[in-house]
Amino acid sequence: MQIVEESIKEYLLQNIRTIPDFPKKGIQFKDITTLLADKKALQLTSLLLTEPYREKKVDFVVGLESRGFLFGTNMAQDLNAGFVPVRKPGKLPARTLSETYALEYGEDSIEIHEDAIHEGAQVVIHDDLIATGGTAAAATRLVERLGGQVIGYSFIIELSFLEGRKAIKPNVPVESIIIL
Ligand code: AMP
Repeated sequence: MQIVEESIKEYLLQNIRTIPDFPKKGIQFKDITTLLADKKALQLTSLLLTEPYREKKVDFVVGLESRGFLFGTNMAQDLNAGFVPVRKPGKLPARTLSETYALEYGEDSIEIHEDAIHEGAQVVIHDDLIATGGTAAAATRLVERLGGQVIGYSFIIELSFLEGRKAIKPNVPVESIIIL
């Protein structure tokens, strides 16, 4: 089974394209549009994202703008959960909470609808990729300010050399399909 899973992960990795110096010099951008376009890779990614949480009670999958929306909604459906988008400032129409986090140069913010998650809800935070962990950490603060409990993180790709796990909640499972 382990061998099968490893070869599936190898197949997915082959379907992710690395674009050097995008969006700026020095960044090796992991482009998942090639993975989305491959029908086998699309199905396998969905299956592997959902699998670790299948036996858990999940109330919401929180997807991070924008590539966290691509698989997040499907994950929520598969886990019998709701989907909640976390978006860049000014995109959500109703009343929001906002969290700011540091970037390499400057800072950025993300927002959630303040009525999106109920007290005590069990939440999985999903994005396509974790780099420094700043975005996922800010999303965690948003969920917790609404009274939700983060019971897991879910990523397609983890850039482990950037140590994003250290920025997010300790003792909460981090499920990354491909760890680079
Ligand atoms: P971070 O907050 O540093 O963990 O960055 C994670 C967010 O930035 C995710 O929404 C990713 O989609 C995006 N991101 C960061 N680095 C990369 C990269 N090398 N390739 C693709 N997306 C990236």
